[in-house]
Amino acid sequence: MAAGAVVRGPVEVKTEALVVGGGLAGAAVAITLARAGRDVVLVEREAGPKHKVCGEFLSAEALGYLGGLGVEVAALGAVKIARVRMAGREVRLPFEAMSVTRRALDEALLERVAEVGARVLRGSAVEGVERMGERWSARIGREQNVEAGAAFLATGKHDLRGWGRPEGRQDGLVAFKMYWRLSAEQARAMDGVVELFLYRGGYAGLQLVEDGSANLGCLIEREELKRLGGGWEKLLEAMLAGSGELRERLRGAEPVLGRALAVSAIPYGMVRERTAGVWCVGDQAAVIPSFTGDGMSIALHTGMLAARMYLEGATAREFQRRVGAELRRQVGLATWISRGMVGVPRVMAGVVRVWPGVLGVVAKGTRIASR
Ligand SMILES: Cc1cc2nc3c(=O)[nH]c(=O)nc-3n(C[C@H](O)[C@H](O)[C@H](O)COP(=O)(O)OP(=O)(O)OC[C@H]3O[C@@H](n4cnc5c(N)ncnc54)[C@H](O)[C@@H]3O)c2cc1C
Repeated sequence: MAAGAVVRGPVEVKTEALVVGGGLAGAAVAITLARAGRDVVLVEREAGPKHKVCGEFLSAEALGYLGGLGVEVAALGAVKIARVRMAGREVRLPFEAMSVTRRALDEALLERVAEVGARVLRGSAVEGVERMGERWSARIGREQNVEAGAAFLATGKHDLRGWGRPEGRQDGLVAFKMYWRLSAEQARAMDGVVELFLYRGGYAGLQLVEDGSANLGCLIEREELKRLGGGWEKLLEAMLAGSGELRERLRGAEPVLGRALAVSAIPYGMVRERTAGVWCVGDQAAVIPSFTGDGMSIALHTGMLAARMYLEGATAREFQRRVGAELRRQVGLATWISRGMVGVPRVMAGVVRVWPGVLGVVAKGTRIASR
């Protein structure tokens, strides 16, 4: 198999470093290691571009990391986000942000992975990763196998059997995502803005992406969703009834996707500080509540940090302890605020109406300072 090739089909592979999952964290590991001249195999279960449940807000840190990895989001058509709005109040963000679909961003990163010389296997999931003496062995589908000296787990929201994450501090939320073609008037109102909406049992974020449509990412407590009757349609009804601002934005809007995307069992507030030898990165290392728009930045940061520590000769255990020390405080603070947004939305909206500046304070306070 040639370096830099995108490969499908059965293969028996030996490599120095195996990366499981080709999202942001996996790509960050693979690019950093391959650039240092190491032999890397990255396995991504999706065969081609795909939408992902994500608000697609790229913080200044995330933009910096992407630039460092050689991916310029402006070239993908990313739009600028300069302000945050909630409960009818709007403030400037304390940093520059952008927005671009994960479909475009993740593909650009995987292209970069191949470009810098890592091998990319696409279209089959890794079924398991096991230790074989000093090495690691990964089963891919029924026939394929990768043997590696080190294994990096970057499967994001999906847990690999035997490598489940610890519980979060705000479990039990279900996430949905839908793109909307807004009316011309509402599209103008969303220009350069990320807007948050609170309703009973959850919250949502809306922002424009590169093709002019708007991404609505929503969260709802599983119990509340059940009470509503379950499913996207019921949630949408409840969100529109519960938030006048969202009703206004979606007036005359048309859904873009045939059906909403959904994901459940998200361990918000989880920070994995221990490992039995696999390097856990991205959402496999820590899950910060979505309203912060910092999950992608953490994914890129932990991916690059893991690769750098590996190159310096550190162990996976040392890396995981460092993740705990770096992320515990901000993830904890963000989870505490997120619980308030879900549990007492009216109080939270009231605070923002009286003190809009709190939006900027929270945006800054939930960044990972030590990066
Ligand atoms: C509702 C919601 C809104 C969000 N909004 C934002 C936001 O606006 N800004 C922000 O910064 N963050 C946001 N996040 C968080 C962000 O999406 C994640 O933190 C980020 O995607 C984590 O990146 P990752 O690389 O760890 O995982 P992922 O991006 O999930 O990538 C994991 C990859 O692994 C692949 N994979 C999974 N299992 C296997 C397997 N067995 N074998 C091979 N491949 C596999 C998947 O196909 C996928 O490509 C949001 C999250 C949610 C739920």
